[in-house]
Amino acid sequence: HGLFTGTVKIMYVYLVLFAVLSYLVCIKYIYNRQWHALRSSLKRTFNVSSERKTVGADVRALVVTAHPDDECMFFAPTIIRLVELNASVHLLCLSEGNYYHQGSLRREELLRSCAVLGIPASRVTVINHEKLPDDPKAEWSVSLISSAVLRHITDHCINMVLTFDGRGVSGHANHVAIYKAVRHLASTGELPKDCVLFALETVGLLRKYTSVLDLPFSWFLPSHFHCVVGPKGYKQAKAAMLCHRSQLLWFRYLYITFSRYMFTNTFQIVPQGPKNLKIY
Ligand SMILES: [Zn+2]
Repeated sequence: HGLFTGTVKIMYVYLVLFAVLSYLVCIKYIYNRQWHALRSSLKRTFNVSSERKTVGADVRALVVTAHPDDECMFFAPTIIRLVELNASVHLLCLSEGNYYHQGSLRREELLRSCAVLGIPASRVTVINHEKLPDDPKAEWSVSLISSAVLRHITDHCINMVLTFDGRGVSGHANHVAIYKAVRHLASTGELPKDCVLFALETVGLLRKYTSVLDLPFSWFLPSHFHCVVGPKGYKQAKAAMLCHRSQLLWFRYLYITFSRYMFTNTFQIVPQGPKNLKIY
């Protein structure tokens, strides 16, 4: 009987080891394939012939955020990869993050963070509008946001817009308001024909805080656009987070350590056309 229990225990150990190893192999596979997958999804999105080697130069991306630090907390893997592909990446931040009256300091921190991520100050726009306060209780005007975004798209010939989805990753009302505005834009037909809209997927708490372990889920679950960074990209994202000194409370360090958004972003396309008029 003792021998039997011993054998079962050893089998369990082997099983656990096998599961852990398979998981690691899976993550390694993802890292090997990620550049290829990223390039081909961009080629598909922009109808670039599959023979052409570079696609980044065709991409003029606009990341739309609500507060200084959203860019590195949520979008770092995407910004880092697009910059590496030589895409021109712009950032439109709709508030100065003035909740604690530190607007100008936070603007400075944002510029530093963007420099770390590879976005030059000339491509960063921060809006400071009384109707767009950094406040979860404030209802941001959909028409105000959508006209600001549309102006930015036409001024800079943007063909790829990336922003939050309807749950806004953290659920912040200002994040959600941007999604509503982008959906509104998608329904009006005012966007240039070649412009694609992407919404950053919000995942459940369990997946959100499993850091790099979330990679297989992000990889195999269907999404329209997917970016992954390795240890070097993670360090870059972390350095960008550390630029926001005024925000560095203890739980920020936990976020840096455990959030999957430091390693990976998955996006869904926001469909365009009049059918989407009454989505929200
Ligand atoms: Zn935010």
